[in-house]
Amino acid sequence: MPHPIPPTRAAGLQRLAAFAPRMGQPYAEGRNHDPGPDAAARTPPAVSGLSPYLRHRLLLESEVAAAAVAGPGGGAAESFIRETLWRSYWKGWLDLHPAVWAEYRAAVAAAWPGRTAIPGLEAALAGRSGIACLDSWAAELVATGTLHNHARMWFASIWIFTLGLPWVLGADFFLRHLRDGDAASNTLSWRWVAGLQTPGKHYVARAGNIARFTAGRFDPVGELNEDPAPPAAGPLPPPQPLPAAAARPRGRLALLLHDDDLHAESLGLEGEGAEIVALAGFATPGARSPGGCAPAVAAWVEAALADGLDRAGRHFALAPCRLAPAEVAGWAAASGCAAVVTPWSPVGWTAEALGPVEAALAARGLPLLRLRRPWDSACWPLATRGFFAFRKHIPRLLQELLPPSPGGAAPAAGPTAA
Ligand SMILES: Cc1cc2nc3c(=O)[nH]c(=O)nc-3n(C[C@H](O)[C@H](O)[C@H](O)COP(=O)(O)OP(=O)(O)OC[C@H]3O[C@@H](n4cnc5c(N)ncnc54)[C@H](O)[C@@H]3O)c2cc1C
Repeated sequence: MPHPIPPTRAAGLQRLAAFAPRMGQPYAEGRNHDPGPDAAARTPPAVSGLSPYLRHRLLLESEVAAAAVAGPGGGAAESFIRETLWRSYWKGWLDLHPAVWAEYRAAVAAAWPGRTAIPGLEAALAGRSGIACLDSWAAELVATGTLHNHARMWFASIWIFTLGLPWVLGADFFLRHLRDGDAASNTLSWRWVAGLQTPGKHYVARAGNIARFTAGRFDPVGELNEDPAPPAAGPLPPPQPLPAAAARPRGRLALLLHDDDLHAESLGLEGEGAEIVALAGFATPGARSPGGCAPAVAAWVEAALADGLDRAGRHFALAPCRLAPAEVAGWAAASGCAAVVTPWSPVGWTAEALGPVEAALAARGLPLLRLRRPWDSACWPLATRGFFAFRKHIPRLLQELLPPSPGGAAPAAGPTAA
């Protein structure tokens, strides 16, 4: 069966172009409404559905922001641009606070063996909690690989505050089934709902809000704990400096792609003394969880990797190969390269897989050069506090990071980030 959201950059660009006219007022007014998957199949949804493409960098945040700035939504696309920048903010925040990811991974690993004994957990995962909206969203997530943002918020809140289930196992359920499953957006959004991310503030799902924004599909009045005690949250760890990224590489290089960044064409690896002599890629979607991930998610990620490799192969005139992480060092050594370059992998399971790859390459005398995009280098260091402090920088970031269009000051759409 064809993927309903084809895992290619071409399909992402098509979706971006089709959504551009709705990025302004229609998005701002409609983005909180979740009419459900049936309605979304009949009428164009208010939200873009671009997240699987952005998550794997089949599309770049800079391209999507540029389309919003230049598009028919014009100044009215502010809300859409702000949401797009949430992704950059969360990625930066987690890269500055890697201990939060390590803590999440350890908590999931510790909870995993005893999960079946947690009262209510299996029923909630199977869509049998008895709360109709939650059960419907659990089934929708498993069947479609996605959920509307508002449904994700309500789901997480009911999971934590009404059912009293461990937030890390809810976050794990999402990661196993979301096509856009992302270490930063998922972990930090769950933490935000739980009241761990913004101490003193937790997100409470209310029946009236759910009825209003689901077109009356659900009305869980009397079913939810709408007055939960504020959670006990420890202090946030202090931000660490962003690790140094590699300088522009030169010489004979092997290019290693992965599913955190599948747009090699805009990495700026052409010329200036750099020669790409070999091309390979890996993806480890099963490393999202001790339970792996849904087969449909794994298939989507593998197909997205194939698309990224195919485009990169044409761009660099090389035959790409798909490798397991343990095969990378042997492949690189056989290629005769002087170093391996790879797009930056933010904190998450792909970066975890790159650790042993780097060690195996070092054992053969080959450095692994991680290239960070200018967009990330500019946005991430600003994610030290809350989003409201970060968003003040958005106008300047757009000014500095998006190229001016040929006719004037408005930035043009198109690959920009490298
Ligand atoms: C509990 C919870 C878990 C989440 N887990 C993930 C996840 O694993 N992966 C993921 O990509 N997003 C996650 N999100 C964020 C958000 O729900 C999705 O990015 C959004 O629903 C994607 O749909 P869209 O592309 O139609 O978004 P649109 O509303 O069209 O927004 C445009 C783009 O902005 C970005 N964006 C929008 N809202 C958010 C947000 N709240 N946080 C971060 N970026 C945002 C996305 O890149 C999105 O594609 C989570 C949110 C919550 C509350």
